[in-house]
Amino acid sequence: MSDYLTLTQTLKHAGMRLTPQRTAICKLLAESEAHPTAAMIYDELKPHFDSLSLATVYNTLDALVKLGAVNALGDAGDDSVHYDADTEPHVNLACLACNKIVDIPSEHVTHLAEEITSTTGYKLLGARVLYYGLCPDCQRASDR
Ligand SMILES: [Zn+2]
Repeated sequence: MSDYLTLTQTLKHAGMRLTPQRTAICKLLAESEAHPTAAMIYDELKPHFDSLSLATVYNTLDALVKLGAVNALGDAGDDSVHYDADTEPHVNLACLACNKIVDIPSEHVTHLAEEITSTTGYKLLGARVLYYGLCPDCQRASDR
């Protein structure tokens, strides 16, 4: 799990200035369990930072993803990349109807990461295991 301090330190290492906007993005990523998209981050922070641009959100996310502090999860049926500050191996489960993504801890994925490390010699920076489906709420809604 990349906490707030890890994220801000990562940006510093990337040579980025820690502006109030960037630290707010880090705080949101560290605290959010909602796997936000860049647009969601922008919408949430824009009221607090008049000068915030979508480009700042994107270049901050890019830097964090490149350095392995945040995972880019791909879309959840909504054509937008979702981001996850939890870089420990786990399964993400996306609902294609409400586009919600939840975390599922899985021993299998932990073992898989260990297996991949030992067979390839890679230093893994993160993992993206994304399952798609319909959440129980949306299944009930479509039954009606
Ligand atoms: Zn759903």
